[in-house]
Amino acid sequence: MYNAIICRYHEIAIKGNNRSMFEKRMVENMYYLLRKLHDIRILRVRGRIWVEFKDKSCFSDEQLVLVKEQLQRAFGLESFSPVIMCEPTMDALKKAVDSSCRPYFAKAFEKKKVVSFRIRAKRSDKDFELNSKAIEIALAEEVGKEYDYDSLTVDLENADLTVWSELREEFAFVYYEIIRGPGGLPVGCNSPVLALLSGGIDSPVACYEIMKRGCRCDFLTFHSDPYTPPSTIDKVRRIGHHLNLFQRPARLFICNLAPLQKLIRDNCNPRFRTVLYRRMMFRIAQIVAEKHKRLALLTGEAVGQVASQTIKNMATINESIDMLVLRPLVGSDKNDAVKLARRIGTFDLSSEQVPDSCTVFAPSNPATAAPLRKILEDEARIPEYKDIMREVIDNIEMITP
Ligand code: ATP
Ligand code: MG
Repeated sequence: MYNAIICRYHEIAIKGNNRSMFEKRMVENMYYLLRKLHDIRILRVRGRIWVEFKDKSCFSDEQLVLVKEQLQRAFGLESFSPVIMCEPTMDALKKAVDSSCRPYFAKAFEKKKVVSFRIRAKRSDKDFELNSKAIEIALAEEVGKEYDYDSLTVDLENADLTVWSELREEFAFVYYEIIRGPGGLPVGCNSPVLALLSGGIDSPVACYEIMKRGCRCDFLTFHSDPYTPPSTIDKVRRIGHHLNLFQRPARLFICNLAPLQKLIRDNCNPRFRTVLYRRMMFRIAQIVAEKHKRLALLTGEAVGQVASQTIKNMATINESIDMLVLRPLVGSDKNDAVKLARRIGTFDLSSEQVPDSCTVFAPSNPATAAPLRKILEDEARIPEYKDIMREVIDNIEMITP
């Protein structure tokens, strides 16, 4: 019975010239997310986006399931509703309500003997014969006809069921659900970034947060073959694949850090290994980002979470490069990251116990405040790291996860 989807977005963030760019991007992304539905049309009409089939036919149940799943991944959408669209007459509206309300009332009656409902009508055609109040009353009477008066009450504040309707000059429509979208901005309306993606909980969440601000993410992951198993890479590949559900598939760069880690293990203070590894990771990330014209890196770092994430160590690690690093989770609690990871569907993947590149040859007591001077002295002892790094970068593998 549903023959269109109405999609709403926040207009505040997108005033002026940005607006058209924002809307165009939004529509493009929606075409991509709904690509399995052939012959659809996505239209911008007065601050709303409409999805319908070109021949105006109805969505099947399976198609609606797909639409709901995919539009919840469309960054920029505040909410959306499947609607029954009809002619802009009272008769057509009544018929639309009559033909669609039963399943909703049936569901409400499963839980309660007496169900409260309300009708909300909006009228943008001010010349229409009835005002909004009168439309609401007429539709309520239509619903009332179906049911016993004892089992139905009207509640304008906290109704069990709301029937929304809107009457415009060119058409009218009815709907029952408002499904929340992810909010934010459409992916692609800001510059893309290079995300350092590990198999942990935080970095996938950080990617989600930045995609939500309009930035497409390419991914870079480090492993330490042969000291980490192939499953280390495979885990990150699957996380990358999942994150690509929210954007047009981006690339995963896979880099073997082991040659540099061995060099550090053999020549530097063991307590500084983690910081030294991470300085190498950052350097490699900057080079890859510049090569692919990415202006910023992204990490899942949060202050104080692990030894390498004290302010002192973060500053020391950051000192190794000269590029903007985005850290969307910098002030979050682990609990919040876990919650979000569950919501976006990366938590179970991240929870698989697979060795991480960072922990290869890691000491049991890493320094929480490695002095920069000492770190620089250690690096001065391994000038060959530059050549090895070049080789490591030449051997980077690139896949679309
Ligand atoms: P996460 O849960 O994201 O792994 P974490 O709390 O375990 O984070 P660290 O292991 O110190 O913290 O990593 C901090 C950040 O550094 C990660 O969020 C990620 O962006 C990056 N990082 C760590 N390990 C790797 C890796 N093997 N490959 C790519 N990036 C990594
Ligand atoms: Mg980690």
